Amino acid sequence: MLGAGVSDLSGGDLRAPAAQGLSIVVPVFNEAVGLSRLHDRLSALAESLKERYGLACEVVYIDDGSTDGTLDVARGLIPDHLDVQVVSLSRNFGKEAALMAGLDHARRGAVLFMDGDGQHAPELVQRLVSHWIDDGFDVVYTAKANRDNESTLRRFGVRTFYTLINWGNRQKIPEDAGDFRLLSPRAAAALRQLPERNRFFKGLASWIGFRQIRVDYEPDARAHGVTTFNAGRLLGLSIEGLTSFSVAPLRIASLLGLLLAFVAFLFGLSILWETIIDGKSVPGYPSLVVGLMTIGGVQLVMIGVVGEYIGKILSEIKARPIYFVAEHSIKSVDSTSALDNPSRTAAE
Ligand code: UDP
Ligand code: MG
Repeated sequence: MLGAGVSDLSGGDLRAPAAQGLSIVVPVFNEAVGLSRLHDRLSALAESLKERYGLACEVVYIDDGSTDGTLDVARGLIPDHLDVQVVSLSRNFGKEAALMAGLDHARRGAVLFMDGDGQHAPELVQRLVSHWIDDGFDVVYTAKANRDNESTLRRFGVRTFYTLINWGNRQKIPEDAGDFRLLSPRAAAALRQLPERNRFFKGLASWIGFRQIRVDYEPDARAHGVTTFNAGRLLGLSIEGLTSFSVAPLRIASLLGLLLAFVAFLFGLSILWETIIDGKSVPGYPSLVVGLMTIGGVQLVMIGVVGEYIGKILSEIKARPIYFVAEHSIKSVDSTSALDNPSRTAAE
């Protein structure tokens, strides 16, 4: 059998999805200022979820190698209505790796991903959970309701990116879906089974299928600090997403090659025509140089595209861990005694 089943993996009663509880995964990178405020809001959220659905919650903070006091703040957080796990990575591995670490450490059934900067309102989580428990959806993802406040250039970039990535793909990745999403136990189990190292969560969460639903929302302003995703990092993430989800760039390379060859053929014909019929001798330096430069440039770009994929193969083959955990602690609501074990454990 080449497929994989997850209904048995998710372990448990599908009729009572709430029974396995909910893990809230929050990657934090230099968020010391707003962290305890966020934690209070999450505690309030957990309290109301417990009341309404009998849902047991835990929060998993992934400290992604913060250089401010984030880890100290996180260590001091009190488990109030929800268990608190603090996983500190050995350095800054990036948000996708932090999400992966969160998914690995989540002990409950369902998993919710949200940012640690207050942009993803805990109050909206009620709605996401309701889509899961009341309506039976497996992947509840959120999308920015409007992008009016973004520059035209950025919107153009986003449009191009999704057109490219979805080109010829059976399962379309929804445009402007964010990382704020809820996965049912079986969807989380499916996501855990994916073997690749280069993770592009938005794409993968859509790729796994199951019943998916979109929720539009207005992201709040960042509670403090500035975004860590500047133009350069976004470009990197886009290339990462593109090359792990589509062969469109490779196809474009082949098409462009064909097109160039065809144009060259026509050009050749026209030269023949000129020499034989019109009897012209061709001085032709400019056209020669332009032709050479065009072909050279296109070839370099296409070699780069192929290189991206080879780089991807290399990093899959090296099979390095995606992150290292430097410190891990769990504090439960019931036993407030902290289990602190600062150890250097490698993630599987
Ligand atoms: N983040 C992270 N590692 C990083 C960069 C960011 O864990 O290397 C976290 C960050 O703390 C925040 C979330 O990822 O909780 C989103 O980051 P940010 O707000 O900078 O991105 P944006 O909201 O602009 O997409
Ligand atoms: Mg943000």
